[in-house]
Amino acid sequence: MDAMHVMEELVAELNNYNYHYYTLDAPLVSDKEYDVLYDKLVALEAESGFVLPDSPTQRVGGELLKGFTPHRHLAPLWSLDKAQNIEQLRSWNTRVLRLVNEYNLKNPGNPLPDPCYAVELKFDGLTLNLTYRNGVLEQASTRGNGVIGEGILAQVKTIKSVPLTIPFKEGVIEVQGEGIMNLSVLADYNTRAAEPLKNARNAAAGALRNLNPKTTAERRLNAYFYNVGFGEGVEFADHQEMMDFLRNNKFKVNPYLTYCNDFDDVTEQLAGIEESRSSLDYLIDGAVIKVTDFRIREVLGYTDKFPRWAVAYKFEAEETTTVLESVSWNVGRTGKVTPLARVEAVELAGVTVQNCTLNNVGDIERKNLKFALGSRVFIRRSNDVIPEILGKVTEENDGGEIIFPEDCPACGFPLEMRGAHLFCNNKLNCRPQIISRITHFASRDAMDIETFSEKTAGQLYDELNVHDSADLYELSFEQLVQLNRFGEKKAQNLLQALEDSKGRDLASFLFALGIPNTGKATTKMLADHFRDLDAVMQAKAEELAELPDIGGIVAESIVNFFADPIVVANVARLRALGVEAKAPEAARPVSTDSFFSGKTVVLTGSLQKLTRDEAAERLEALGAKVSGSVSKKTDLVIAGEKAGSKLAKAQQLGIQVIEDEDELIRLLEM
Ligand SMILES: [Zn+2]
Repeated sequence: MDAMHVMEELVAELNNYNYHYYTLDAPLVSDKEYDVLYDKLVALEAESGFVLPDSPTQRVGGELLKGFTPHRHLAPLWSLDKAQNIEQLRSWNTRVLRLVNEYNLKNPGNPLPDPCYAVELKFDGLTLNLTYRNGVLEQASTRGNGVIGEGILAQVKTIKSVPLTIPFKEGVIEVQGEGIMNLSVLADYNTRAAEPLKNARNAAAGALRNLNPKTTAERRLNAYFYNVGFGEGVEFADHQEMMDFLRNNKFKVNPYLTYCNDFDDVTEQLAGIEESRSSLDYLIDGAVIKVTDFRIREVLGYTDKFPRWAVAYKFEAEETTTVLESVSWNVGRTGKVTPLARVEAVELAGVTVQNCTLNNVGDIERKNLKFALGSRVFIRRSNDVIPEILGKVTEENDGGEIIFPEDCPACGFPLEMRGAHLFCNNKLNCRPQIISRITHFASRDAMDIETFSEKTAGQLYDELNVHDSADLYELSFEQLVQLNRFGEKKAQNLLQALEDSKGRDLASFLFALGIPNTGKATTKMLADHFRDLDAVMQAKAEELAELPDIGGIVAESIVNFFADPIVVANVARLRALGVEAKAPEAARPVSTDSFFSGKTVVLTGSLQKLTRDEAAERLEALGAKVSGSVSKKTDLVIAGEKAGSKLAKAQQLGIQVIEDEDELIRLLEM
């Protein structure tokens, strides 16, 4: 027998073992037996210099990739209409029945059958679209915008439950499924990982969109398949036939798949799924209900967004109930007065919750919480921030009243209602807002006044009457040295730090001013664009709204901010006292042929080997535009540790993500 023939047999044997192990969860041989055969194949491949396309050795993840190639799906990947509750689900079904009925009245000779429903789990991972040509996996891609996704073939090949070849060899098909990370695999990974992963969904999505397929391989992902989106010459009468086709072609199909003839059975199934949700070894965020008959599907058709024959039923986010004990009011930097709720301590998603947000007074009214003190309330965990109070458990208004303050709790100034928020307009004498304003002014990304803290701001306010940022630059050594806990050394250091801060550039200065709705990336962009403080201060809203990253609200915030005579006077004083607020001399030459040139990039989370500022500077030198928020215009998101909502949004929008810092450094050519 020649070497090629031996290899073919070995590959077929190993793939069969893989299939039983990873797809059917029913191993045929021990790991040791498998390893012996696998090693034999590796040796033969090395010897012959030839590797079969479906060899299991192709699953370890190959070389680093430069980027993702776009893939145009052969048939669009639809998103699903959503039902948040049973009522909405019933109205979806009412429409299905009505359309079937209308059709049958018009076509009495060839009526549609009564609808039957398939109930499937809605996996919380990353949607995959696999393309097979004549039985061979040719491409794998993300959903993208539903029409064009990004090719992630090398990454998907590392998922051992994805077949590299299939028995169906008569043309091209595309199948859809969800790439996931099993919770047990995540837990096991985290016992060994230097950087534990927090969430299985992000772990799977991040791994699949990682440019290093070896990283994908390390996460040992899994995938379930549930749809044939395109098939040359393939036709099914119903969902059952399609699922049989998937199974026969060795795709992993989730064992939970129920068919219901009666819609009441559907709702019963949903309750059952929700109950058993926490015992599953993967994340789901709901269930999908589909009409099974393909003729009915054709008659129902599509809206411009969704198929009418399917609907996603979303489960409630994790929540619990507790007692609302009290509400306190805090004054922020902009004078906004926000309610903070104290609740009876309760466990929610693994943490003890005592504080909850109530957002604003409008929110309290809207949620009917005005008379809820001492009442039981629903609270919901939300990403990264403290939990939110959703509403009362009972409708009766028998609780204590949450009294909205009329005067500022800090300074007694009458409050003003703007939109849904209360504001204290006492900019010049309200202690908490002044202290947080000055603390922000001095912070690292702003004027970077070393050793300055919120405590310093408080002490200077109380003892030396420092009421705005300009007052800082009038402080004298004699004044400072008298203060409690201030020696000569500390006084000198602070004066030196203040002196140093006068040279901070325009971008830092604009950020230091604390313009509402305007973050660091925006002030940087303003500085780069206008290159002059007066020009920024005099810019018109229409002019600002033309700039990247600036919408109408931000443009208006900037204009209103500089229209305030207090702000204008403060800026004038700062400049008179020596604050320069200058733009850097000239823009550095920018590379136009790097991986990043022309791309809009968002940095989020914390990096280990370089600061975000260093990364941003380098990205700009390589021709990227660094932006502060993720939108459809974003080309790339660089996610460090503890990347939160921006990463989630990027994944939701199908934007390319780089999570591997070494990979980033390589691409930055550093
Ligand atoms: Zn106040």
